[in-house]
Amino acid sequence: MKFSIKLVLSTMIVLALALGFSGFYFVNYVFETSLDREVGQALDESSILSFAFETAALNVPLKYSVLPDSVVEEIASKLEMGGQGGGRLLRIADEEKNILYTSSGFTSDEGLLPQTDQHTKSYRVIRAQDRFYVHTCVSINALNRILYLETMKDVTEVFTERALGFSLYRKVTVVMLLTGMVVMLFIASLLTKPIRLLTQATRKMAAGDYAYRARQVSRDELGQLTGDFNRMANALEENICKLEEEIEAREEFMGAFAHELKTPLTAIIGYADMLRSHKLDEEKSIMSANYIYTEGKRLETMSFRLLDIIVAKQEEAQMQEAPVGELFAYLREMFAEKKEADIRFVHEEAVVWMEANLIKTVLVNLIDNACKASETGAGLEGTDSDTAGVVEVTGQKAENGYRISVRDYGIGIPEAEQSKIIKAFYMVDKSRARSKNGAGLGLALCAEILKIHHSELQIESKEGEGSCFSFILAPCRCKD
Ligand code: ADP
Repeated sequence: MKFSIKLVLSTMIVLALALGFSGFYFVNYVFETSLDREVGQALDESSILSFAFETAALNVPLKYSVLPDSVVEEIASKLEMGGQGGGRLLRIADEEKNILYTSSGFTSDEGLLPQTDQHTKSYRVIRAQDRFYVHTCVSINALNRILYLETMKDVTEVFTERALGFSLYRKVTVVMLLTGMVVMLFIASLLTKPIRLLTQATRKMAAGDYAYRARQVSRDELGQLTGDFNRMANALEENICKLEEEIEAREEFMGAFAHELKTPLTAIIGYADMLRSHKLDEEKSIMSANYIYTEGKRLETMSFRLLDIIVAKQEEAQMQEAPVGELFAYLREMFAEKKEADIRFVHEEAVVWMEANLIKTVLVNLIDNACKASETGAGLEGTDSDTAGVVEVTGQKAENGYRISVRDYGIGIPEAEQSKIIKAFYMVDKSRARSKNGAGLGLALCAEILKIHHSELQIESKEGEGSCFSFILAPCRCKD
């Protein structure tokens, strides 16, 4: 059953109960009050009648010392006739409670007589032949006799009014319930609108439309729920996008990996086959063996780099505060023998938060790339002689940490290629890169290492003018 219908039904049940109880209480209260009034009137009337009887008994001829039955009947019939609208209903009984006189139509039994004595009045409400009466009984003290006067007062109207009251209230209740139901259906539909919109959004998202969001139509708890749902959907969509990107990157990686394996393996297999199936002269044999060696070396370098990337991705880096001076001293020593480029190191002293060995790997790769890009024969004809072959490795404090940059004045990187070069196996000039034992994995490794340091590689480059690769390290302890 729909929630809105449940809401309407439960409200209707509460409304019906409330109307029912209040109606019953109200009509009954009016009835009780009217009946009490009628009972009071009946008792007053019977007192007046008993007084009138006693007064009439005073006029009995003196010859009687005790009121005779015949006079009782006479007075009773006179009193009976004196009633409004053609007669009262009364009954007279003697001391022994034997009936002396009964009006025609006095249908009540003698149930009240035994309960009544000289000093008490009694009454009850009775039903006789589909009519209701107040039946009263009082004593009369007339001419040395104690008599009992019973009256019946018709109160059917009070009961009819009660029945009418109930019937009217039932009709009013039905009309109010029907009107209430229509109004409640409208209100329930308004109140449950956010739930309907949320359901719609959930279904759309389940069907694959991750960008769909539920419309927020209220500011209450349901509105907050919609807001939270949308925030959750944003987070989910972000994660799904990331996952899709990761899958795409992995597929790209696998494709590039297979391709990069194929080239050296084809050469190795080809030259090995030539060596085993042909008798080659010494020069050709050495050349073939050389090819096998160089391609094998390239494969070895590639596998080491891949291993480094996997380790960098998986291992928890041992980050600690380390002085930049030590890092620069290591690099200076390492590249001291490198005569192909003029590497200049300048740094500002600082202590940074890093895994020194991993940052060394990043800088060695960047400096290697800068040297390769600055080498003569790399298409650098016409470059400034002051900067030709110069590689500047700089470390300086920056606003948000410590910036290390490697600048060269080499061949530069075309703008369209700049965003792609950190992808695994990506090489701008494949044959040139392969000839230098490159496999397009160095920058991918650098990116992974910097990710661990919550940093990233920034590339500024202009084709023919050189490139600057830089990254920022946190100056103090800032591990998660
Ligand atoms: P590789 O092992 O081939 O050097 P990298 O991932 O280190 O792989 O570099 C990817 C490609 O980016 C290189 O093949 C080269 O084309 C380009 N590249 C990297 N550094 C520079 C640079 N300083 N100047 C010009 N091109 C560069």
